[in-house]
Amino acid sequence: MDHGLRRARLAERLGEQELEALIVTRLPNVRYLTGFTGSNAQLVIAADASAVFLTDGRYRAQSGHEVPDVPRTVYRQDYPQPLVDACRTLGATRVGFERHGLTYEAWEQLTDRAEGLELVPVGPEVERLRRVKDAEEIATIDRAQGFADRAFDTVVLGGGLRAGVTERVFAQILERAMVDAGAEDRAFDSIVAFGDHAAEPHHHLTDRELVAGDLVKLDFGALADGYHSDITRTVAFGEPDPRLREIRDLVAAAQRAGIDAVRAGVSTTEVDAAARSVIVDAGHGDEFPHGLGHGVGLEIHEAPSLRWDGGEELVEGMVVTIEPGVYIPGLGGVRIEDMVEVTPDGRREIPRATKELIVL
Ligand code: ZN
Ligand code: ZN
Repeated sequence: MDHGLRRARLAERLGEQELEALIVTRLPNVRYLTGFTGSNAQLVIAADASAVFLTDGRYRAQSGHEVPDVPRTVYRQDYPQPLVDACRTLGATRVGFERHGLTYEAWEQLTDRAEGLELVPVGPEVERLRRVKDAEEIATIDRAQGFADRAFDTVVLGGGLRAGVTERVFAQILERAMVDAGAEDRAFDSIVAFGDHAAEPHHHLTDRELVAGDLVKLDFGALADGYHSDITRTVAFGEPDPRLREIRDLVAAAQRAGIDAVRAGVSTTEVDAAARSVIVDAGHGDEFPHGLGHGVGLEIHEAPSLRWDGGEELVEGMVVTIEPGVYIPGLGGVRIEDMVEVTPDGRREIPRATKELIVL
């Protein structure tokens, strides 16, 4: 990954905003700009793209090989004084900080030390850059999805859903299968929802056992080199209630309409509307209570957000999920989710796991 190029792009944006430097404290942003994979680091980057990378003693060796191309400060204590010192080293006085990347306490500590610096709150500049993925990032997301696809094949299609298995145990089986397939880890806490539990969009795992007639909603993902994948499939364990079959077909049609609406130049609100209108027209608008999707990358949820409000234009290289759902309390729910890459021709669906309603 070309971290130097990313820093150069960010530096250009700082110049446009008359900032002499930016203090980057959000860890996924530090990773994006440097390649550092540890749990504590900051980056101060100047408008000429020179930078200082900061971390603590635990990461002296690791940062040495992960971040070979940026001057490093390894601090022992007295944080955030090293951040202020780095700004001075870079000759910057008008300095931005990530307003969404500091706690109130951290902000107080920073301003206590920042004599002579003019601190300017800055929005999600790095996140804006991260929306558009390069070929290597997309290949990594593909790889992450491949691990999840393989787990779906071996565990779900391979007979892992048996009467009596609990949501909690099945989540473990699914996550283990992703790691066995080669994943670095699971990408997030898997959602496994049996029967009426699927009526909660983000259900927490329980010890409920699987019984015949349950729909099973599985929302899971794998991690590859820090990049996430995200997929939801709904399968049936025995013949489901006919109303749930109808809802499944409706959600599948809405998802198709959403995916087909994805192309460069289209607003995220239009994509949301394309899918949502299918569900609203069928009289289930109130039972689709969340946005249509989100970007995926170094974080499981990142920009752009696909919702009914706050539209932004899709750009080639973005990777977004399309995940409509309909949830009926007491009965169950269906969501179908795929990651889609915005391509020159329109779009490419990344997962290969079937979307047909499989009856196990
Ligand atoms: Zn998901
Ligand atoms: Zn998602």
